[in-house]
Amino acid sequence: MNERERALLDSVPTGCFIDGAWVSTGATFTVHDPATGGALATVADASPEDGLRALDAAVAAQESWAATAPRTRGEILRRTWELVQQHRADMALLMTLEMGKPLPEADGEVTYGAEFLRWFSEEAVRITGRYGPNPEGTGTMIISLRPVGPCYLITPWNFPLAMATRKIAAAMAAGCTCVVKPAQETPLTTLYLVKLMVEAGLPAGVVNVVTTTRARDLSGPIIADPRLRKLSFTGSTGVGQALIAQAAQGVLRVSMELGGNAPFVVFDDADLDAAVDGAIAAKFRNIGQACTAANRFIVHAGVADEFGRRVTARVKAMRVGRGTEPGVDIGPLIDDRAVAKAESLVADAAGRGAVVATGGQRVEGPGTFYEPTVLTGVVPGSEILREEIFGPVLAITSFETEDEAVRLANDTEYGLISYVYTKDLARAHRMINRLETGMTGLNAGVISNAAGPFGGVKQSGMGREGGFEGIYEYLSWKYTFLPN
Ligand code: NAD
Repeated sequence: MNERERALLDSVPTGCFIDGAWVSTGATFTVHDPATGGALATVADASPEDGLRALDAAVAAQESWAATAPRTRGEILRRTWELVQQHRADMALLMTLEMGKPLPEADGEVTYGAEFLRWFSEEAVRITGRYGPNPEGTGTMIISLRPVGPCYLITPWNFPLAMATRKIAAAMAAGCTCVVKPAQETPLTTLYLVKLMVEAGLPAGVVNVVTTTRARDLSGPIIADPRLRKLSFTGSTGVGQALIAQAAQGVLRVSMELGGNAPFVVFDDADLDAAVDGAIAAKFRNIGQACTAANRFIVHAGVADEFGRRVTARVKAMRVGRGTEPGVDIGPLIDDRAVAKAESLVADAAGRGAVVATGGQRVEGPGTFYEPTVLTGVVPGSEILREEIFGPVLAITSFETEDEAVRLANDTEYGLISYVYTKDLARAHRMINRLETGMTGLNAGVISNAAGPFGGVKQSGMGREGGFEGIYEYLSWKYTFLPN
């Protein structure tokens, strides 16, 4: 670790943030650099009691935050956006250190993640309702929006800034207070973000952060507490299912951004250069560790070989290394389990007849690296087509007809995003309508945008984050009737 990295890490708070104060807890845990295995920082390991203290603070601040002028709420978010811009180099480096993504990608996440702060600073002042006569003409209907109340926000490690701002900014804009629980692998980015929020004028209790190694033990009592009104979770489908069951007890509002198994469909009329560019972005961004990562490349048999050759050439040229080094395309996976999963999925596919066109091996440590890999001729039934890979492995399978492409693409319990490459407009429209996903990239490999409603169908979740739609996750309708 160099001096700049050390100085940055020393500037990150290491306590929990409860009721406007940084507090230490009885225990601590260590955050690691997945590229080296080395320790980066030691942060507070919150207990279930600490979690409930954070909820107390959020509950106590709820009424005054809901009554705070929308413009004031928006300005705190806007000032935070400005501060993130000022500190963007630090923020990007911090994400690369704790999560592993190459620095240019971390810089891209600063832009994307910060944009939720600016977007929702603008949405805070556009919460409207409606007013009008009832159909019988006997009175007036007033339909207004109220903040849902204190929220519990759980985020994953793969986009440490964006997954936090996507929830926190929407909640704050709507007038909700919150308790945030970042992933234990990457708590530092959230702690740094909240430090900037304080500088931007965040009132005590509005945002509280608990870092912990005991996610389940800490979350249970918060979710069971009758004062909580909303649970928003981003993470794996299995954990999401367990949380929905817990949330049912309190009939909580829930938003779930869960796993994906994105199909990337390439027709024989596609612009193959564009499809290859899109494929590289959709697969290898974030070292393949994105819920939006293309998981199954479903390519028309007429172009599958050529597509395979071109992506393989691109992947062979990729550089693996610590994300802080210039020119690195592929950083480490988050942990050894992730490397083992890539190994086992590749072994299963190869055992069933797929060809390993490049890669296919773990990279010896330190750090948890796996080679960027291309598999061609992946046969139906392979585990890699069923499971979310969450690693730098591009698996190609082929199809003959449009109906077959649709059937293969929809053959999953997930429904987050799909990608389609075709120049035929009518076919594009048909595909958009037939693909069972919450989002589609049409001739585009990356579509995430703070202005678009992000989210899935089927077991990829419910609710939307970002866009005009995102704030409604944190608002509830109130209907009032006044007789004439
Ligand atoms: P994960 O489900 O293991 O963990 C996510 C968060 O939940 C972490 O903060 C973790 O500490 C916490 N958690 C784990 N078990 C818990 C429990 N029993 N009770 C309460 N909290 C618990 O997922 P992950 O490995 O951190 O993230 C990867 C997953 O997230 C992938 O499946 C990916 O597709 C998904 N993801 C989805 C989106 C989306 O918007 N749909 C975005 C990013 C990641």
